[in-house]
Amino acid sequence: MLERIEQLRKELTLYNHKYYVEATPVVSDYEYDRLLRELQDLEAAHPECYDPTSPTMRVGSDLTNEFVSVAHRFPMLSLSNTYSLDELKDFVEKVEREEGPTEFVCELKFDGTAISLTYEHGRLLRAVTRGDGVRGDDVTANIRTIRSVPLVLQGEGWPDYFEMRGEVIMPHASFNRLNAERVEVGESPFANPRNAAAGTIKLQSSQEVARRGLDCFLYYMVGEGLPHQNHWDNLQAAKEWGFKISDRMQKCRSWEEIESFITRTDGERGELPYDTDGAVVKANDYMAQRRLGSTAKAPRWAVAYKFKAEQALTRLLSVDFQVGRTGAVTPVANLDPVQLAGTVVKRASLHNADQIALLDVRVGDMVYVEKGGEIIPKITGVELSERTEECKPLQYITHCPECGVELVRVEGDAKHFCPNQDGCRPQIVGRIIHFISRKAMNIEGIGEETVELLYDSGLIKTIADLYDLQPTMIATLPRMGAKSAENIMRELSLSREVPFERVLFALGIRFVGETTAKYLAHHFGNLDAIMNASEAELAEADEVGEKIAASIRAYFEDEQNRSIIERLRAVGLQFVEAEKQTLSNSLEGLSFVISGSFERHSRDELKALIELHGGKNLAAVSGATSYLLAGDKIGPAKLQKATKLGVKIISESDFEAMIGGLEGVATQPEIQQAIKPENKKESEKIAVQGELF
Ligand code: NAD
Repeated sequence: MLERIEQLRKELTLYNHKYYVEATPVVSDYEYDRLLRELQDLEAAHPECYDPTSPTMRVGSDLTNEFVSVAHRFPMLSLSNTYSLDELKDFVEKVEREEGPTEFVCELKFDGTAISLTYEHGRLLRAVTRGDGVRGDDVTANIRTIRSVPLVLQGEGWPDYFEMRGEVIMPHASFNRLNAERVEVGESPFANPRNAAAGTIKLQSSQEVARRGLDCFLYYMVGEGLPHQNHWDNLQAAKEWGFKISDRMQKCRSWEEIESFITRTDGERGELPYDTDGAVVKANDYMAQRRLGSTAKAPRWAVAYKFKAEQALTRLLSVDFQVGRTGAVTPVANLDPVQLAGTVVKRASLHNADQIALLDVRVGDMVYVEKGGEIIPKITGVELSERTEECKPLQYITHCPECGVELVRVEGDAKHFCPNQDGCRPQIVGRIIHFISRKAMNIEGIGEETVELLYDSGLIKTIADLYDLQPTMIATLPRMGAKSAENIMRELSLSREVPFERVLFALGIRFVGETTAKYLAHHFGNLDAIMNASEAELAEADEVGEKIAASIRAYFEDEQNRSIIERLRAVGLQFVEAEKQTLSNSLEGLSFVISGSFERHSRDELKALIELHGGKNLAAVSGATSYLLAGDKIGPAKLQKATKLGVKIISESDFEAMIGGLEGVATQPEIQQAIKPENKKESEKIAVQGELF
């Protein structure tokens, strides 16, 4: 028995680390909860095995060494959970036995990562993760980027010093976009929105955090001098102060009401734009909460009822292996079509060889399919009772299904790769498609099909070949004519103006996404500096770790890549970051939001002027905004918010005075030059069209 206890403790400690620290779980929550429950039962039956360090006694920890750790003023606990309505009913009855008739509050259990926000004198002072429940990581800079987190409170009645506890979540839209980007650059996608949220708030770059689109629901207020003595009323007050409090909350006075809240929520959760993994039932009254107390791990006045993930059982018919532009191989399951959460599922991702081995999934098996927040469903288990003799273990392919070259697998990498980057069609075509894509070189007029056509006709083999294309070569291709050839030539010519950071992203270096490319461009200033940098020097740039640095070095050490670079240099692509022009630093440290239309300048010109004078442009009014530059027909919401937050509102003439009157206003060409290149491209395009017609 002792052996089993030891084994479970070891296993659960490992799963905790994978889940909380690395944000890459290796077993399902259901499986984890089943093992934890087994350990709890064994420990209860064998009190002689008591160990205060057992996973049953402690809050799972997300502490890392990369942030300053801060002690929580009030411990941040977990929640007891159950998957059984009978057990939930036992909890309700137990509370009522001790407290008499009780008012409960039923809420959604948001599936993200816990956060504690401290406010002092109505301003956000600190944001700290749950950590081990006693101390957490200070992630304030990252949390400040979440738009729904108020930096300054509205209204009145807030205590001078208090905490709001809540959940940082990643909505499905942000999650799907992020995972698509990660797959595009050869990174493994996040397993689910919860892990993506947990991983994101621990990033070192707040700019990247801001880009990923997190959100935050608050569900608990702690501190002294709170306005009310119950949970519900305090949350309503918090809503007035500007916190995001869910509307899907209900006061319940009977088991029937609680049960119907749960049934309704379970039925509706598929329609929510974010993940919820259950409902939380809490005693409302603070006195009752105090009397009921807590264990070392969780309060006794609340319980989480966890929903089982919506699943479908179907047969695995076959497995395809897809090769991406980075050479990464992804196994994809073909399924007997089955209805799941409102759609028919025919294919599911199997991620990699490890996942297949872990699940021991075989062709012919009946498999469980689940849909999280992600678009592509995944296989989460096998129904072993339905396995027949014919279901043979799946042999992972050893050779590329596209070009036949032997696959490689680098130590520590979950994926197999096809190393034949210059001879494997999906890799070559994929690289060219990436190069011309909107966020890279934005070459319109050449779509994916055209790239395939150009490649299959032998006209292009590398991205550099695009610039050797002649109108006559294109015009003779099927479905192409003189007009489309002319379009393509013009687009290619315009792409010479695309800024360096996007050219760097367009090269398609593995793991170098849009943001990493931007950081590299700012840090090194030009391509030669990046090409000549050692791995250690590369890792000095923001967001560049060992893995990315090694990948960049490998890319530039490749002869073929170097020759492509030289050809691109020769056709005049931007390999140097454009000098950031300045006219003065009169707006240094000031930030502006522009709204409405203006008499003398377009909004883009004003934005450029702000930057030319050392100021910063912000998209939305917040406590951090210095000025709202207001024109005609300004958005009423922006105006209202600025007034409420005490942000100064200025006119076009006020602004001109700030930059030294009209003499300070740059001459027209200077402003035009400073306008963001992507906008400029738009205006040039219009000019070219104007010439044609
Ligand atoms: P939990 O996530 O099950 O529940 C507690 C958390 O719920 C709180 O910390 C809070 O952040 C959150 N929460 C969301 N909405 C809430 C609301 N309305 N009110 C109060 N709290 C709310 O507990 P946990 O301790 O963070 O994690 C334990 C669970 O995580 C396990 O039960 C298991 O399901 C999962 N887990 C899985 C693995 C794995 O490998 N798959 C490993 C460790 C933990």
